[in-house]
Amino acid sequence: MGITKVAIIGAGTMGAGIAQVCAQAGWKTNLYDAFPDGLDKGMKAIDAFWEKGIARGKTTLEQKKKWATNLHAYQDLPAAVKDVDLVIEAVPENLQIKARIFHVLGIETKEECILGTNTSSLSIADIAAASGRPEKVIGMHFFNPVPIMKLLELVKHDQCSKETIEVAKEFGDAINKTTILVNDVPGFATSRLGVVLGNEAIKMLADGVASAKDIDTAMVLGYKHPMGPLELTDLVGLDVRRDILKNLQESFDDDSYAPHPLLEKLVSENRLGKKTGMGIYDWSNGTAEETEMPEF
Ligand code: NAD
Repeated sequence: MGITKVAIIGAGTMGAGIAQVCAQAGWKTNLYDAFPDGLDKGMKAIDAFWEKGIARGKTTLEQKKKWATNLHAYQDLPAAVKDVDLVIEAVPENLQIKARIFHVLGIETKEECILGTNTSSLSIADIAAASGRPEKVIGMHFFNPVPIMKLLELVKHDQCSKETIEVAKEFGDAINKTTILVNDVPGFATSRLGVVLGNEAIKMLADGVASAKDIDTAMVLGYKHPMGPLELTDLVGLDVRRDILKNLQESFDDDSYAPHPLLEKLVSENRLGKKTGMGIYDWSNGTAEETEMPEF
């Protein structure tokens, strides 16, 4: 495969998790974020994950030290991506932001470098076009929490080369993920179903069908989902899911994907889910506690 150095762009929920698994796989891993707070939060989240592993006897101190030496924090994008073999972008779900990053990546990375995007719903072809090197660009869609979830959804667009797909598959094998290969259709094979279920669950909560806990329990016990759609929305991030819904609404020109007004209201109040301590549930004690919904 020839990967020895990787760079991850964006140190949020996903970027930190992707950087963690890359560092654990033994690659030199550069983690870049445009915001010092974001970078600091991401590095701390990785450290906390490793510390928890040590406390639970799943990780040794020696392992943690070895992994930590592979991980490097960067606040300068060109420096972070110089000389790497693979870049995975995990910045917010916004085409303009991602396109700006890929434009820079096209200039600052070496020619053979593979450029992956962790977008959940945007057109890979559009992101790839911004790089000027579309054959090297591929969707690499991870799941949250990255170190635990087994799936890596690879998304190919028309100009994606066979070699790029091959390297991405080998990368997935090396980090112990199961890869699936999906065409470049908005929402791919996963996000489209996931956000529709979550949005409908929010609509049901707003309509007073049942409490949040009972809606979640319905899917956990009735349909064997490992987690209810409302709790999962809190875990993913309400802003992330709202953005995906908007992208699907626009791409398919179909208002059935419109984010429910309660979802919009929660996002406007910074109730973004577990990451802000409050979403559909109150997470201030570390677990999902039922709480009041705002007027919308
Ligand atoms: P997040 O909000 O947790 O993190 C985004 C990070 O990007 C932040 O640290 C922010 O400071 C940083 N950032 C913002 N603008 C930047 C820029 N111009 N350059 C560099 N860094 C910048 O978001 P997330 O949940 O990690 O989502 C990131 C991407 O992954 C999105 O495309 C999302 O759709 C996708 N995704 C998310 C999930 C999930 O469960 N959250 C799952 C799969 C895919």
